[in-house]
Amino acid sequence: MERAELERRRINREKRKQAQQRQDALIRSLGLAVVLALAVALVLVVRTLFTNANANTEADADAVTASAVQQVESTPKPEIQAADAVVSRSGSSISSLPQPATPDPESIIYFTFDDGPSTEVTPKLLDLLEENEVPATFFILNYSEELLPILRREVADGHTIAMHAWDHDYAKCYTEDDAYLSGIEQLREKVFQDTGYTSYCLRFPGGSSNTVSRKYNSGIMTRLTQQVDADPSWEYFDWNVDSTDATGNNLDPEKLAQSAINSLKKGQHNVILCHDTNNKKTTIEAVEKIIEYARANGYCFSAIQRDTPPVHHGVNN
Ligand SMILES: [Zn+2]
Repeated sequence: MERAELERRRINREKRKQAQQRQDALIRSLGLAVVLALAVALVLVVRTLFTNANANTEADADAVTASAVQQVESTPKPEIQAADAVVSRSGSSISSLPQPATPDPESIIYFTFDDGPSTEVTPKLLDLLEENEVPATFFILNYSEELLPILRREVADGHTIAMHAWDHDYAKCYTEDDAYLSGIEQLREKVFQDTGYTSYCLRFPGGSSNTVSRKYNSGIMTRLTQQVDADPSWEYFDWNVDSTDATGNNLDPEKLAQSAINSLKKGQHNVILCHDTNNKKTTIEAVEKIIEYARANGYCFSAIQRDTPPVHHGVNN
């Protein structure tokens, strides 16, 4: 009996132990399951977050597309709108350039270029004038063989060739009464021989109002202007607008242009003084700016012609 009781107790202990082991195993399993579940949950959460982030990016892109679509849809005529946009875009790029105004035949600009031709500046200037279909007047000095093709191009391009001096040196021009006029007669003949062009106008070095000649020959400008006035084969031209490019080299083209533009007058023959020697490189850009301004403000361009009313300064010597 006692032995049986002991055996029963032993079996019970064994059962309790096994139950405890099962319970422990279950708890361990559950623990593992929970850990696994948490791990899975974590992975899912991370994945969800990551996917949402991507989805948000796409959603934003979609939103942009959607709003763009909405804009187009809310516009009654999207094609016309688009076309207008193109016009207004190109319009605004053009509007940074002045818009051409209706040319006024009474408001004329005569570009005049003194002291050329030159090897570098004159050809570039001729290109600019050709591109813009602007005729001009070149008051030339005696030239070397090297410059003859450039002079020929001036003639071929329809510009007016005018005489400035055989030699610009004031002492050589103005010391003797006859020196200046015989010099430009000689130059006119040379141009005729070289190009077939007969020149009919001249510009005194320093202009008819110069006072530098007084140093060499008192009263010479009075006598020279009278002689030219009496000679029907000649007319002399001064200027009434100055680009001021004679005041230095490599001057700011904006300032040169502005100087000329400030003196332009509508309803007037505007004769602009410029120079085309090689050290007047910025004059080219200044001329371009003046052309732009003039086109935008209704000016016409002309080379000096035989019937162009002369612009004369007052004589001071
Ligand atoms: Zn000159």
